[in-house]
Order: sequence, then C-alpha cells, then structure tokens
Amino acid sequence: MEVMKVQQMSHHVVFILLAATVRSQVNPEMCRYPLGMTGGQIQDEDISASSQWSESTAARFGRLDLDNGDGDGAWCPDIMSEPDGLKEYLQVDLRSLYFITLVGTQGRHADGMGNEFAQRYRIKYSRDGSSWVEWQDRKGRQVIEGNRNAYDVVLKDLEPPIIARFVRFMPVTDHSMIVCMRVELYGCEWLDGLMSYSIPDGHQMIYRGLDVYFNDSVYDGASAERLTKGLGQLTDGTWGLDDFLHSHIYGMWPGYDYVGWNNKSLPKGYVEMIFEFDHVRNFTSMKVHCNNMFSRGVRMFRQATCYFRSGSDWEADPVTFRPNVDRTSQNARFVTVSLGDRTASAIKCRFHFSDLWMLFSEVAFQSGSAVYNTSLTPRKHGHPTNTLPGEDPTHKVDDSNTRILIGCLVAIIAILLVIIVIILWRQVWQKMLEKASRRLLDNELTARLAVQTQAFSSLHSSLSSESDSTTNSTYERIFPLCSDYQEPSRLIRKLPEFAQSTEHLGLSTSCRALASSGADGAPHYAEADIISLQESSDSYSITAVNMNLFAGTDSSMREFPRHKLTFKEKLGEGQFGEVHLCEAEGMQDFLDEDLSIEGNNESPLLVAVKTLREDANKNARNDFLKEIRIMSRLRDPNIVRLLAVCVDTDPLCMITEYMENGDLNQFLCMLRLKEAADEDKTEPEEKEGESMVSYSKLIGMAVQIASGMKYLSSLNFVHRDLATRNCLVGKNYTIKIADFGMSRNLYRGDYYRIQGRAVLPIRWMSWESILLGKFTMASDVWAFGVTLWEILTLCKKQPYSQLSDEQVIENTGEFFRDQGKQVYLPKPPRCPDGVYNDLMLSCWRRNAKQRPSFQEIHTQLMESLP
Ligand code: ADP
Repeated sequence: MEVMKVQQMSHHVVFILLAATVRSQVNPEMCRYPLGMTGGQIQDEDISASSQWSESTAARFGRLDLDNGDGDGAWCPDIMSEPDGLKEYLQVDLRSLYFITLVGTQGRHADGMGNEFAQRYRIKYSRDGSSWVEWQDRKGRQVIEGNRNAYDVVLKDLEPPIIARFVRFMPVTDHSMIVCMRVELYGCEWLDGLMSYSIPDGHQMIYRGLDVYFNDSVYDGASAERLTKGLGQLTDGTWGLDDFLHSHIYGMWPGYDYVGWNNKSLPKGYVEMIFEFDHVRNFTSMKVHCNNMFSRGVRMFRQATCYFRSGSDWEADPVTFRPNVDRTSQNARFVTVSLGDRTASAIKCRFHFSDLWMLFSEVAFQSGSAVYNTSLTPRKHGHPTNTLPGEDPTHKVDDSNTRILIGCLVAIIAILLVIIVIILWRQVWQKMLEKASRRLLDNELTARLAVQTQAFSSLHSSLSSESDSTTNSTYERIFPLCSDYQEPSRLIRKLPEFAQSTEHLGLSTSCRALASSGADGAPHYAEADIISLQESSDSYSITAVNMNLFAGTDSSMREFPRHKLTFKEKLGEGQFGEVHLCEAEGMQDFLDEDLSIEGNNESPLLVAVKTLREDANKNARNDFLKEIRIMSRLRDPNIVRLLAVCVDTDPLCMITEYMENGDLNQFLCMLRLKEAADEDKTEPEEKEGESMVSYSKLIGMAVQIASGMKYLSSLNFVHRDLATRNCLVGKNYTIKIADFGMSRNLYRGDYYRIQGRAVLPIRWMSWESILLGKFTMASDVWAFGVTLWEILTLCKKQPYSQLSDEQVIENTGEFFRDQGKQVYLPKPPRCPDGVYNDLMLSCWRRNAKQRPSFQEIHTQLMESLP
C-alpha cells in the first residue's frame, strides 16, 4: 500500500513539474503513461462495446490487469451473433484528446478455467466521435499481433501514434475461438487542441536519380486536391534529420520524415496551411520544424503570414513573421513564429518559399500558458540539437528546457529511490521482528516445520535421484517446454512436495539450458524430437542421436505442382490451418515406387492437404516445416504417410494420404460394442441405425497403434501426444498414427494449459512428464495405456472424466507418492482381466523401467486376440 501511495505521489510530482517548469509535453518516448483502464481513472460508463458474451464479460471488465489476479474479468464479444465477427469492438472514451503511443492487451484465463485471448486485433479511433479512422502502421498494415496466451500482457507501440478521444479495439477472429480482451492505453493528454490541419499534399523530388517522396504518408483525413480534416506527420512527434534523404524510421523511403513542396508546383510562391482547433484559444507562437539543406535546394521559409478566425470569417489583419535567413548552417531546426497573442479557433498560415523546396516535419502551437505538441528532446540520440551559430535562438530555449526537465526528473527519481529504500527497509525490519517473535512464541510449530523440511528434503533427494537417472544435459537441450516449466503450474505447486521449491526438481536448470539454446515463444508441446533411449541394465538414459535425421530438408520429399490439386471438401481444422480433401492429378505417377500407395491406382488420387494459414507467424511456419521434415522420414504402414509438399510458394501445404474415416476418436464415438454372443456373426454391423463394432476389432485397432509405436520406438522417436484424437482411420479399420504437431481446436478440452504457456494433454501424460517434464518412450507407453482405454470404452468419455484438471494433477502427485491413493482408469466393460491387469495397468507403473516396451505390448495384444 505504501509503495502504491509513493507511486501515486510521484506521478503527481512529475505532472506538476512537467506542467510548471517545462511547459511542454508530447515526446513519444516519454509520453507513455497508462491512461486509466488499469488504474480506474477511466470510468465504467466510458467503456462500451458492440456486444458482450455474457453479463460477466461486459465492456467494463475489459481492463488490463497488471497484477494478473484471478484473470477472470475481461470483455468478450458475442462473436457468434455477428456474421463476420470483424465489427466487434471494445470502445474507450478518454473524454478529451490524448496523444496515444502504446496499447496493451491481455486475455482471460480465469485461473486456468478460461483460455480466451485475441491473437490479432485492429484499432479504430476518432477525435469527435463521429468520423472514425482505422489505424495503420507506417507500412499500411492494420492488423496488430496480439496475445499468444491468456496470461501475458502484450504491449504494442503505435507507430505512428494516435491523437484521439475515442479508441476502439477490434479483435480479428476466425470464429473458431471465443475472444476476450483486457486493454490499456498509454500516452498523455494532447493539450495542443489541434483537431486537424489542411495542406497541399507533399511533392516528389528526384535527387540524383533517386525518388524522394515528401508526401504526408500517415495523414488520417481526406485526400483530394488538398489533405483535409486530418492529422499526420506534422503532429506525429517525429522530427526530420538534417539530411532529408535519411529517415529516423528504419526501412522507410528517402524523404519519409518530411512533408515538402516544390516552389515550381505552387505558382503563388507559398504553401497555405489551415489549422483547426477544438475551441477558441489565445495563441502566442507557432513552432515549425524545417529542413535547411540549401546545398540541395531546400531552405526554411522566407516569410510566414498567418490569419486568424474565431467565428466564421478570417480576420483582415494577419500577423507576418520573417525569420533570419541562415546561409551557414544546414541543420534542421525549429523556427518559432510569434503569433502576437491573437485569439482564434482556426489559423491559416502562408509559408513563402525562399528556395526551390520547403520541407516541414513538425508543427506545434503555444496557446494560453502552455507550449504544446512538440517534444523538446529528439526521438533519437545523435539528432542535431540546433546549437550552431546563426540559427533561430529559440533552440537554445528548447535545449535549456530539456536540461531543466532532465534535471528535475533525475532529482525526483533520486528522492523516490530513497523513499522506496526506506519503505522496503522498514518492511524487511518489521518482518524480521515478526519472525523473531513468532519463533519465540511457537516452538511447537517450529518443530513441526522442521519435520516437514526433513520430509521434503528426503522427497527431493528421491526425486533428484529419479531424475538423475533419466535426465542429462542432452535431454535438457532437446526438452521442448522450457518456458513452460520455468514457472510450473500453480496447481503443481499445490502438491505439498512441490509447494516449497520447484528448483529442487531440477526443472529450472533444464529450462534455462533450453532458453539459452534459443527457444522462443511457447514451443509446441507435441514437437517431437528424436531422442535415443539407451536401455541399460537398470536405468534409462537419454541422449540426443543423429539430429541430422531431422535436420535440413528432405531430398526425397518432392514439390507437387499446386495447380494439379482440386479442392473437394474441408476435412477438419488443425493447429496450423485447414485440412482439405483434394484430388491430386497424376499423383500416382509422381510418387516414387516406395511411396506409391499400394492397391490404389485411382487417378486422380484422393489426398488430404494440410495448409498453413496465410497469416501464420514465423514460429508456426517453422513448426509446420518441422512437421514436414519429421513426417518425411517416417515410413510405416501404421504411420500416416506424407506424399508430397507444396513449399515453393505460399501457402505452405503438406499432402498426406487420405484416411476416409477421419480421426479415431470421432470414429469410435459413433460406434457401439457388439454383444459377446454376436461377436462371430458376420451379418452387417448395423443395429437400430447405430454401427456396431466387435471387441476383437477394437483390439485389432490397438494392435495397429502398438505396431506404429513399435516402429517409432525403433527410431527412438518419442511422439509425446499419443491419443485416439491423433490417430486416423482409413478403410477396413486401418489405423495410422498422425499428428506430429498437435490438434488443439476441436479437442481443446483434452489439453490443459500450464501458466498460459504450453497446452498439455494431462490426462494422457505420465506422472513424470507432468511433474518432471520428462518425455520418454516409457511416457509414450503410459499414453498408449490411456489410448487403449479410450478404444475399449469407445471414446464415450474423457479419461478421468469425473476429475477436474486440478484433481488430475493431484492424482499425479499420488502416483508420485505411491502410497496406494492414486486413482487408475477403471477396467472398461468387456475388457478381460488379463488385458487390464497385465497390460493396461502395467503401462501406468510408477517406475518407468517396469513399463512394457511397445514390442512387448504388441506381442501381448496379438496374443489376447480372441
Ligand atoms: P493438426 O495436427 O494441425 O492439429 P490434424 O492433422 O489433426 O491437424 O488435422 C485436423 C483434422 O483434420 C483431424 O482431426 C482429422 O479430422 C482431419 N484430417 C487430418 N488429416 C487427415 C487425413 N490424412 N485424412 C482424413 N482426415 C484428416
């Protein structure tokens, strides 16, 4: 509390000092104050929205939450009610004009219960509440990359900044996800009062064969003969450099920072600009930032004549100002035009040429008691500060103001630091006193704590010995969940053994190692890496082998001509984009002999085409290419086969064999189990409109999965996401393992998000995968046990459906503690004791070494076939 008070106090002090001493604002680098969504200065009634999903997700809840409390409050639009979903918005009314430099967004996680966020959004703004402008960056892009998980705040600089009173956040969504947003705006008040300027648009110069564009490229009003009703580069807080060919902003064209005009194109010999203000003001001066590179025909203006208007007509007596002509310095500079305290709500100024070109990058006004708009510090270090002789003397005033500002700020920061140190010191001291008195008063509790600590260290040593036997540095390097495990789930922390310190588990070390190996973002859980599982007499040790197997591009995977694919229907939607059924003309001839699909001479061949969605970012693109590389190396009758790719041009596609009956989960869900007595009957497997399946067919499916996994284990390949949803069904109950990425959308409920980073299929995961982050062949065996259970229960329920995610994690703790309190999945109906006790339960043995291999599972299942 005390710290908060100090923060508030410091804000006030800063504001007072800024207003009183410096009398200037809008420096985009400093103008980054939260405008009150988080702090509550923006009232509920000023936050509105196009729609809301429910009362508890109304607009007023759309406030960014920096403390990331329970993460429940958020605005969620009723996207389904809006056919294209693109018009949904969350609107903030700031009550007056603000210069907005930064926006922040966050999703809704509701402490693990929610997972809604806006991956992309657009921004619209308005100064008067009636005409709206769609924000776009300097390159014309309107869509902003938003959140990647429901937890983290993502801040985006608005380049160019916005001057607005109303701002709308508009999520961009494809309907497959419910979107929720919490937002904040950052900036400072726009005291300038300038609502719009009207100018002739800038001209193009050809300098030594180089095209130099002096147009107002970020102007947000109308553009016809003149630019009208908008603001743009002249108020964006960015000054031009001395050399107009160079820009502050990387990657922009020559002349970008300036709006400029050619004397020959304006026969009257001047440029006329009209400035409209929010209300009548008393103007003392105007500051114009001009280029003066006379060696290239550019000079500041010779004369400025300004007219004033308070009502409907321009007043007759203008103010005329003639700056000193500077024939020595070519520095760009602010020229201050005195406006003689005239009262007006609009000013019209004519700037007369003194050379072939006149270039402006910023215009600002001083009215009443404040100097407005332009920052007094340049945006970039090394920008000229206009101190050479012969220049407009006002620069020196600017400079001294800057120094005063910096001096004040340094003093304030120093005072604040002292106050904070004192407060912290007091708190620490208090805590120490409290602790000491507690220790004296409660010896018994201390004794108990000591016992617990002992218990924990023995637990820790058992855990570390466990992990020592399986984890080595190589494993750490290839472990894909770095960022997800640095901060293990709060739920895991609730397990007593894990509550005190996760560092004891050796997790942070492995994560740090990976972080330094360059994993960025939240890596995909199911990214399958090759690891070698060397089974020694009494322990597994994992080492990386032959990463080359998956490195580089696969020479055998050939580019298929895209135009030979004919779209038939959409099969589903995956993590990367849509999966379509297509006809592939000439595919059989295209495929090498060993790739061609046996017994299928159809032409054109039906194939499944998985396409990377066009707006995918670099990470998704890399993951997609990685899945291609992995799949291209796998050849087994029970692994879905990659036939060809289209990667020469976007969108990237992978072409796989078509599995007529879709994924195994959906397939089984629609079936019913035949009675034992009907097993041998060969009549059509249809009863009362419902398809029936025999128990032996189910075991036959499990055999095929075990066979595919046997092949993967022969390559030391850990799948990490084995489940019925990731197996596909072809003709005649053929099953093939797929998904070397992870299907998220359709089966979102099967995955659990740890700290908003990775989504983990906890109900299929071994205890050591959840608690220690270890993925091995033995953890794939655990998942196989769950998959077998799904098959034998015909996927009618999710595993442990009676348990919440939190309870599943608690149950994982019981597996670890091994005190007989762990809950196992129950024996499926009709499942023989032998299959349940000897096979299924053995897959879930606590000791990974005691779990069967896929070879053994395969044999056992074959033997169990009736
Ligand atoms: P991702 O791995 O990106 O999550 P999937 O490969 O799981 O995507 O594909 C999503 C859905 O598309 C699957 O659930 C399935 O219904 C369908 N699908 C994918 N591949 C095929 C295929 N080869 N044949 C038939 N249907 C497929």
